[in-house]
Amino acid sequence: MIKLDDAYDENNIFAKILRGEIPNITLYEDDKTLAFMDIMPQATGHCLVIPKEPAVTFLDLSEDSAAAVMATAKKVAAAVVKAMDAPGFMMAQLNSSAAGQSVPHYHMHILPRHDGLELKFHAREPEDMAVLNDTAEKIRAQL
Ligand code: 5GP
Repeated sequence: MIKLDDAYDENNIFAKILRGEIPNITLYEDDKTLAFMDIMPQATGHCLVIPKEPAVTFLDLSEDSAAAVMATAKKVAAAVVKAMDAPGFMMAQLNSSAAGQSVPHYHMHILPRHDGLELKFHAREPEDMAVLNDTAEKIRAQL
């Protein structure tokens, strides 16, 4: 259970990604943010933007980090739209288990959307690594 007043857990999966302790498919990185592929994508091109600041939910994020996440999300979303030839996209972020958050490090989802193409279930089905790498290559080429 992730609650709104939870202390930050240094061992959450995205903290491990930020420390380089587990494999990750990076799209973009700067001093305040990291963007990478979601390994259980709800659509081809689904990726995440996280702050480097330790924060569980939006309420824990400093205004500086929130601005940095939005700036990176804007860059990455533009690249995702081009790479996936998407006529639309969704940005979403969930705060606490009550809202469906499953990883206790703040993250913004970016999901390309195509007319009539439903999203897959949230955080359910791992994608093939070769497919993720191929998609990441296409997105990076647009950054
Ligand atoms: P949340 O439910 O917290 O909004 O979203 C967490 C997201 O992280 C889900 O979309 C899920 O597929 C993704 N995810 C979970 N574990 C990992 C992981 O180890 N690596 C990556 N890249 N994504 C993950």
